[in-house]
Amino acid sequence: METKLVTIDNVKEAGQIIRDGGLVAFPTETVYGLGADAMNEDAAARIYKAKGRPSDNPLIVHISDIEQVNLVAEEVSEAAWKIMRHFWPGPLTVILNKKKEVPDGTTGGLPTVAVRMPSHPAARDLIRESGRVIAAPSANTSGRPSPTTAGHVMEDMKGKIPMIIDGGAVGIGIESTIVDMTGEVPMILRPGYITKAMLEEVIGAVQVDPAVSGRTMQKDIVAKAPGMKYRHYAPKGSLTLVEGPEDQVVDKINALAWEKTRQGYRVGVIATDETIARYYVGVRKSIGRRDNPDTIATHLYSILRFCDDFELDYIYSESFFEDGLGNAIMNRMLKAAGYHLISL
Ligand code: AMP
Ligand code: MG
Repeated sequence: METKLVTIDNVKEAGQIIRDGGLVAFPTETVYGLGADAMNEDAAARIYKAKGRPSDNPLIVHISDIEQVNLVAEEVSEAAWKIMRHFWPGPLTVILNKKKEVPDGTTGGLPTVAVRMPSHPAARDLIRESGRVIAAPSANTSGRPSPTTAGHVMEDMKGKIPMIIDGGAVGIGIESTIVDMTGEVPMILRPGYITKAMLEEVIGAVQVDPAVSGRTMQKDIVAKAPGMKYRHYAPKGSLTLVEGPEDQVVDKINALAWEKTRQGYRVGVIATDETIARYYVGVRKSIGRRDNPDTIATHLYSILRFCDDFELDYIYSESFFEDGLGNAIMNRMLKAAGYHLISL
């Protein structure tokens, strides 16, 4: 299959592909999504096939208008409406009780459905033009870092899908916050750009799924968002995070990188604008500014993909503060590192 790379000017053709049960990759403000008609079981199945995604890992349904919640969900609580009205359009996914019309192929057989209204204009144009609600996970091959440019999508999806809408590099760079609104207390199943504190300002107490807040692998706890239990976001080489006082972290990473370089491996170092000049071995990359976590989120996945492009065997990275957005960043980095964390 030929994969066309187009701009949003081709939205009419893209909408037709969705109506016909086909796949279109498109930009959102978080990462690129791989979209299909959410109410068409066969279309949803094509997403799993293209990504090589395990079938028990449900998809997020994207809508362009808050009223469309009623097409896919029922018994929606007042608190759920409140956060949807407050944070949409934006990087928040809400878990609601599903309507029976939503096929099991979209929800992985769960009685609930994940819904989000993205703020990216191209995403909303596509949803509107298609006349459908669009199921879309991230547009990467399952297990690889999520795509933040159309080029990343092409790397993974070339020949597997008919169309990619190129909207340039995305703004946020990590996936949406997922909050389950079907229980007694709202629960964050995946940390993201919308933080616990931001949610609590609007609806009061919010819990975080223990499976996604830990700094070590939580062997006995099953993540409530099925997708969070898989190895994810990972580069092909072995990634190790190092945390502690800055001087010690720099010395440790330099020592580890030197050791592996001497043994003949290809080594990478992930640092920040503040520290990059202090490293002297391997392929060195700054992920962003430590004093501005937004810049780190934006570059995270492209740096992990870069590690693959350079066929790095060992990658050593600084680690990042764990409050607010830092929480989401460290959650993704720890998973990418298989929880290899050296604390100094
Ligand atoms: P992705 O869009 O690739 O980031 O994947 C969607 C994420 O949403 C995965 O981690 C899923 O496990 C999660 N998800 C989707 N639907 C549900 C649901 N009904 N309940 C819990 N998690 C969900
Ligand atoms: Mg994903």
